[in-house]
Amino acid sequence: MPGFEVFGEEEKREVLQVLESGVLFRYGFEEQRGDQWKVRQFEEAFARYTGAKHAQAVSSGSAALKVALAALGVGAGDEVITQGYTFVATWEAILDCGAIPVFTEIDASLNMDPADLEKKITDKTKAIIPVHMMGAAAKIEEILEIANRYSIPVLEDSAQAMGGRLFGRHLGTFGAIGTFSLDSVKTITTGEGGMCITNDKTLWQRMDNYHDHGHDHLPNPGGRGGEKRPFVGFNFRMMEVQGAIGLAQLAKLDAILAAQRAHKDLLREAASAIPGVSFREMQDPAGDSATFFTFLLPDKARADKAAAILKEAGVAPTRWSENTWHYYPNWEHLLNGHTPCANGWPFMAHGKQRSTYAPQALPQTTALLERALTWQVPVRLTEERKQTLCNGLRQVAHKL
Ligand SMILES: *Cc1c(COP(=O)(O)O)cnc(C)c1O
Repeated sequence: MPGFEVFGEEEKREVLQVLESGVLFRYGFEEQRGDQWKVRQFEEAFARYTGAKHAQAVSSGSAALKVALAALGVGAGDEVITQGYTFVATWEAILDCGAIPVFTEIDASLNMDPADLEKKITDKTKAIIPVHMMGAAAKIEEILEIANRYSIPVLEDSAQAMGGRLFGRHLGTFGAIGTFSLDSVKTITTGEGGMCITNDKTLWQRMDNYHDHGHDHLPNPGGRGGEKRPFVGFNFRMMEVQGAIGLAQLAKLDAILAAQRAHKDLLREAASAIPGVSFREMQDPAGDSATFFTFLLPDKARADKAAAILKEAGVAPTRWSENTWHYYPNWEHLLNGHTPCANGWPFMAHGKQRSTYAPQALPQTTALLERALTWQVPVRLTEERKQTLCNGLRQVAHKL
């Protein structure tokens, strides 16, 4: 996930404009800033790119999830359903609202299993967060159909899916809100940063207010100090330097996607020679942002052997089942309810256990991810690296 691979003069020029104005704050300083509103421009460009009506920039992808859940009115005692294969931030944001994360299995799409989702809905479910992992669409239409039947809003965690689409429509625009990350390893980056998109003006206003201490941001004679505050909030603001970098990076997104898709096709072609190989199921392969290439082997033993061969060839793959950030059974701090709070919050309240997480609760997720091997797809692929990757795949094909 490669915004950092294409960092260059365009980003420098944008940042210099901010430094020359001396205005780092996204609000106020009208006289000093002239007509320069980098974060606001970035929001407008992002909304245009994705086809959403509104975009709200925030300080991180994690903050985006928190702000979106707050706007949806999620609070203590509510349940929010997400999947057991995601980044920890998805459920951290749920816990941070005082709500209880509930986890579904993934299916062969390596995203939320709609059948398992329906089993996990209760009368406490207040939101559903499917995650478009590795830049390819979850079964979002099926998930929405279920969610709508129960009148539960869907928040798409699209942190890894910048530029990803489903039959032409940008991921993050299907549910009530879509959130994105701009951290240092995502498809485009502002160092740290996040974005929330929505077509619902009220939800956008709630996110706009919540992310800045509840301020309503309406013009008034008292300036910033005279703003009304419809409710309490917090500080999840993006700064002008990030907005500036975001503008330069967003302009490169289509070129990034084109390069990734070409490189992924090449890897897939080479991997097709492996006996018994299969690929992640996709409804719309053309809409995959192609930030990752994943292939599966028939069983864990063969996946282990293939991983060892690739490691030996100098191109070790990622095994999600061994990864500590993305895979439910490896979230020991969640499973063991570790918290800095002496009273046990958010796992305990009033001396009572609120939720427990059994390590073996998601066998289908385990069975899939133990068979999966993944590489990040580079934007810049040297001839030498290409040969090393393809050679690794050839060796797997021969020795497996
Ligand atoms: C990266 C990521 C986040 C969090 O984004 P940050 O900007 O790092 O806070 C949330 N969800 C998923 C799926 C991610 O990959």
